[in-house]
Amino acid sequence: MRCPFCQAHDTRVIDSRLARDGDQVRRRRECGRCAERFTTFESAELVMPRLVKQDGTREPFDEAKLRTGMLRALEKRPVDTDRIEAALHRIVKALRASGERELPTRHIGELVMGELRELDQVAYVRFASVYRSFQDVSAFREVIEGLERQAQTDADDQER
Ligand SMILES: [Zn+2]
Repeated sequence: MRCPFCQAHDTRVIDSRLARDGDQVRRRRECGRCAERFTTFESAELVMPRLVKQDGTREPFDEAKLRTGMLRALEKRPVDTDRIEAALHRIVKALRASGERELPTRHIGELVMGELRELDQVAYVRFASVYRSFQDVSAFREVIEGLERQAQTDADDQER
């Protein structure tokens, strides 16, 4: 860490303590050349990536919007709110953990579909039909067939 007073590289930590409920480290440093003291704060960078839409425009990640989209797909479906919140939490965590500064919106769409597929297949198909903006019935059929294949695989797994 460079000294902000004389720009020397030779600084040392003389005190280190947790700050802001433990999610930050506050360090007192002393410059070996000019003996000035200064404080640094260190915290893990947990920045949500910005979303890159298909037309190339960028927008900030919006958790409320994500929740609205998922709830719309799950409308009148027998799924616990707790399970929906847990799914949302996993998606947000995955985005944050990606460490990327920007992600295509497609990436979030795939994460949402992955969660909905586990939560409720009707919601999954609803979401997929809007999200992939099905142009024709064959795209719709593909999704349904994908679900059937998964159901078959699950059944096979249970038999074993
Ligand atoms: Zn200095």
